[in-house]
Amino acid sequence: MDMTKDANFDNWDREHLWHPYTSTLDPLPTYKVERARGAHIFLADGTDLIDGMSSWWCTIHGYANPRLNAAAQRQLEKMSHVMFGGFTHDPAIELGKALLEVAPPSMNNIFYADSGSVAVEVAMKMAVQAAISASGSHKKTNFATIRSGYHGDTWNAMSVCDPVTGMHGAFGTALPVRYFVAQPHSRFDGEWDPEDIAPMAKLISEKADELAAVILEPIVQGAGGMWFYHPQYLRELRALCDEHGVLLIFDEIATGFWRTGKFFAWEHGGVEPDIMCIGKGLSAGMLTMAAVLTTREVADTISRGEAGVLMHGPTFMGNPLSCAVACESLKMLRECDMAGRLNEIESILRAELSPAKQLPGVADVRVLGSIGVVEVKRSVDVGRFQKECVRRGVWIRPFGRNVYVMPPYVISNEDLKRLCRELVAIVSDEANY
Ligand code: PMP
Repeated sequence: MDMTKDANFDNWDREHLWHPYTSTLDPLPTYKVERARGAHIFLADGTDLIDGMSSWWCTIHGYANPRLNAAAQRQLEKMSHVMFGGFTHDPAIELGKALLEVAPPSMNNIFYADSGSVAVEVAMKMAVQAAISASGSHKKTNFATIRSGYHGDTWNAMSVCDPVTGMHGAFGTALPVRYFVAQPHSRFDGEWDPEDIAPMAKLISEKADELAAVILEPIVQGAGGMWFYHPQYLRELRALCDEHGVLLIFDEIATGFWRTGKFFAWEHGGVEPDIMCIGKGLSAGMLTMAAVLTTREVADTISRGEAGVLMHGPTFMGNPLSCAVACESLKMLRECDMAGRLNEIESILRAELSPAKQLPGVADVRVLGSIGVVEVKRSVDVGRFQKECVRRGVWIRPFGRNVYVMPPYVISNEDLKRLCRELVAIVSDEANY
């Protein structure tokens, strides 16, 4: 691809800026975006792309949303930031109240973090501090999880990502060693196979005295494989954790804010965690923000422990600008019939993606809420795939064998249908990937 004469490519960027998971020797092309509005992204040469990614699951209300922009501007006039140590402010308080109204009923205490990965770090620190405090044993500090998970790019988050498709290969023995068991294979909408829980049951009963918590993404495993599993797994896991005194952490960073068709994915199984991470859709793709929620019991157990405090407190904690935007976003979610809208998106995804099942290169098609996945039989060449996407006016970024869409909820039904049809057309010709 000759990029020197193309307004959509920038050679300085290519020489100097690191993009996610990128080689400096052979970087994938990066398309230059001029502006974005609603569910459309406009490239430097004016090319109009229908967004199928919500910028990695976060821009739930679309780009340049006037209400979110206005909320940010109102807050900017007051203050964009103030330290959270020793100060508090209305945006943080209002957001906290709104979150507790939509969170699992047992959640009581909220820690604001700066990104999803940091929220996972904080959740794991909470679990370790609580487990040591409750048990009096410094041995109860490890974690168990299921394979094919993804929890972020910081050190501890990496350690609980899938050991094969995650980053264990690159970091090897530098990572803490966690316990992994097979992921549940019972499909979300299929029959429950009681054998699914057996490996986790064995592990927890044998290692409970070493385990602070089990951490996993409820219902939808995202960046580790786009897999939707049976809610019964969560019910069985909750019972095991209770029986053996092990905390349960739900990473709802990708699944929250209606992405799976419910406000949070725990609702599919009716199972509440002890600690819950949220992010991405929380600030609707406007600013980086995440949060960790927990029960009064976990919070007070930490506070009764050796340190007497939760040992975390980043510079941008409770950033007022992010909190104000998140408050407005939550208001918008509550004013709309989101269950109805998600049903509508889900039925369009089902209808439009199901023809892909007949394609020879396709292994599986699955849809849940606003997530539509076409799993192909061999690894996708992302550069080649995206070139074809841009040529056809859509934005989709596959990984591994998963070609998926998760559009902003404001996408028009016509755009959503076109997005899906282009996806199916691209996948139907294996030369495109
Ligand atoms: N957990 C899950 C389930 C995620 O999908 C992600 C991001 N893809 C993270 C954690 C990490 O979030 P962030 O990229 O904001 O650090």
